[in-house]
Amino acid sequence: MKIIQSPQEMQEISAGLRISKNTIGFVPTMGALHQGHLSLIQKCRKENDTAVVSIFVNPIQFGPSEDYQKYPRSLPQDKKLLESVSADFLFVPEANEMFPFGYQTKITVESLSAPLCGKFRPGHFQGVATIVMKLFHIVIPTRAYFGEKDYQQFRIIKQMAADLNLPVEILPCPTAREPDGLAVSSRNQYLSALERKHAPLVYQSLLEGGKLVEKKEKKPEVIRTAVIKKLQESSLISIEYVEIVHPETLVPVREIDETVLLALAVRIGKTRLIDNLMIQPAS
Ligand code: AMP
Repeated sequence: MKIIQSPQEMQEISAGLRISKNTIGFVPTMGALHQGHLSLIQKCRKENDTAVVSIFVNPIQFGPSEDYQKYPRSLPQDKKLLESVSADFLFVPEANEMFPFGYQTKITVESLSAPLCGKFRPGHFQGVATIVMKLFHIVIPTRAYFGEKDYQQFRIIKQMAADLNLPVEILPCPTAREPDGLAVSSRNQYLSALERKHAPLVYQSLLEGGKLVEKKEKKPEVIRTAVIKKLQESSLISIEYVEIVHPETLVPVREIDETVLLALAVRIGKTRLIDNLMIQPAS
């Protein structure tokens, strides 16, 4: 695996590969790699001639009171993991190369960035869309892979690619989970042992909502109430939001008569966790 720091060098390599008709698969990450990331990289590896992974803890997607400084960084371990899944290139730029003094261009995907996490993390998705757009220009991927765990992010990037005619296919990948159902996340390592014990309730609450829809419950409020009740079984969990939205528009639905996204964000202690479930009503 080749490690590239310079955006210009990465861009030159990618341009050369594309000219010689190589397909480039791309997985952007913030590092502290885990099974969730690896599942994306394995799919990327299978479907493309060249697999590029980026590791960049993007300062402009963190709010002033968020965890940018203490976000887990584990580059030596990440490199080993990337070797084990046969990535071809690791792109690890420095923050001051990506956002040099005087940088001023941002990408806003308007409506999709407003609800769900957007309400609680102002500017977050603008930061995400901007860095992904920059990375696309540097890596020039044929296909890019995003986890459904961050469903709103996936949806925003797909919209950005369509709106701006980007010649890249945006592909969703299923959420990797721990054996007890907790969605794998770099932030899970912030959880204390006790908090970790309570964390599976997050996925269990989503399944509870899913079961009700399977039993033909059509009222979103009934589902929300059941999910909230399940989460409240733990005094360590505080709820940011529980929403049932249309998977394309992310607008709350009034009645469940087609596939919906049940999405939530909670805090367990100081750790913010998100998860979601796509639910199809029984026919
Ligand atoms: P991050 O490093 O958190 O920015 O994540 C990089 C990519 O990995 C994003 O597309 C995430 O959605 C994806 N990802 C993170 N956790 C998981 C997971 N548990 N399952 C699948 N994909 C994930």
